[in-house]
Amino acid sequence: MSTNCVFCKIISGDIPGHIVYQDDLVVAIEDINPQAPHHYLLVPKKHIATTLDLSEGDETWLGHLYLVAGNIAKEKGFAEEGFRVVNNCNAAAGQTVWHIHFHLLGGREMSWPPG
Ligand code: AMP
Ligand code: ZN
Repeated sequence: MSTNCVFCKIISGDIPGHIVYQDDLVVAIEDINPQAPHHYLLVPKKHIATTLDLSEGDETWLGHLYLVAGNIAKEKGFAEEGFRVVNNCNAAAGQTVWHIHFHLLGGREMSWPPG
């Protein structure tokens, strides 16, 4: 828990978030500024700032998070057409919230390479 972190505050219930799934390890919320018809953020309950701050032991929730991503895509009905799981690490990649998270995007055609 980091006191100034928006995702920690959503996890603790201090500020509202539209939670679509949670368990002991991760929470999935609707992105407040969606970039696709389906845009969820997969957030570990443990506060870790970026991908570069991962350490041994984090494999547990990290692998689990990918299973959750696929399950949400299936549940919401956009798994078969295709979806994207994205992590932005540090400023040049577009990271703006310093609590590691993975974007789950679906429900529209997506181009490659990403912008
Ligand atoms: P990133 O730019 O990769 O760090 O992603 C941060 C994401 O968090 C952005 O897509 C924001 O729209 C989203 N976001 C920021 N604040 C909130 C919030 N209070 N509830 C839901 N999503 C948020
Ligand atoms: Zn946090």
